[in-house]
Amino acid sequence: MSNVNDQSKKRLRIAMQKSGRLTDETERLFKSCGIKINENRDHLLAHAENMPIDILRVRDDDIPGLVMDHVVDWGIVGQNVLEETSMQRKVDGLATGYKVVTELNYGDCRLAIATPQEEEWTGVECLQGKKIATTYPFLLRRALSAKGVDFKIVLLTGSVEVAPRAGLADAICDLVCTGATLQANGLKEVETIFESKAVIICRDQELFPEKKAIADKILTRLKGVMTAKESKYIMMNAPRDKLKEITALLPGAENPSIIELEGDKERVALHVVSREKLFWETMESLKELGASSILVVPIEKMLD
Ligand code: ATP
Ligand code: ZN
Repeated sequence: MSNVNDQSKKRLRIAMQKSGRLTDETERLFKSCGIKINENRDHLLAHAENMPIDILRVRDDDIPGLVMDHVVDWGIVGQNVLEETSMQRKVDGLATGYKVVTELNYGDCRLAIATPQEEEWTGVECLQGKKIATTYPFLLRRALSAKGVDFKIVLLTGSVEVAPRAGLADAICDLVCTGATLQANGLKEVETIFESKAVIICRDQELFPEKKAIADKILTRLKGVMTAKESKYIMMNAPRDKLKEITALLPGAENPSIIELEGDKERVALHVVSREKLFWETMESLKELGASSILVVPIEKMLD
């Protein structure tokens, strides 16, 4: 007979954002790691059908705390939320322990200060005595205190970008990806205070051996998916006497396979996995060296 406790020792529990900017990519990542989860986002807890993994769908702000309080084993969250929550919890006297399992290749953004476009900007000293609207008071305070700027925080959890126009603040400190939202609100980005991306974190305590085995397996798959995303499989026909020069042009390519071409003594087929992007310029140089039928194909999964 298994009870709840036995189950929680055996199933890896992962918290992810229920709905927001990290949700689609996280679901895609699970899928590419072979984890099948219930598509219905309204369920708080989803059990993977084919692996001992449970997915908890929550607001991103709750994720660091769930890991730090040992309610879940893994959490997927932006570094901005992680840092801010850690500082908040420290002040509140709550547990703040966690470890980073791996950085992920999505959720890139930056926490930046923006001021009205017409306002002159000569440096952070312009913010002295000003009111800054933000959802990230701790990160902002840390960045500006280090530079000796004294200012007032206006705490807003949404619509931060309209605060200056609404007369609530002189400047804002908010997440930026492209900068389009700032521009649309008559603001200009003046200072980046924190660069962020999504990360997987885990509790600061050893996992039970059964859970550790699942975690390790998923991590290997995750890394395989991430390296594959950046890698390409390159194939071409090339003159035998130019192989050295051709290989030297291929970025991050190790040990190409050379395959004989039936009935052709001068040319061979060359296959290689390249860990970096292959630019048009490189392909043109390959062609100049005599390569032909150059194919660059995406790789879905990789296991070294
Ligand atoms: P929740 O309802 O879960 O609290 P939220 O509104 O706080 O959601 P989102 O806007 O969905 O959060 O963003 C989640 C995370 O995605 C951010 O904390 C940040 O790490 C990351 N992110 C990536 N790109 C952007 C962007 N352009 N703007 C804002 N956040 C971004
Ligand atoms: Zn949030």
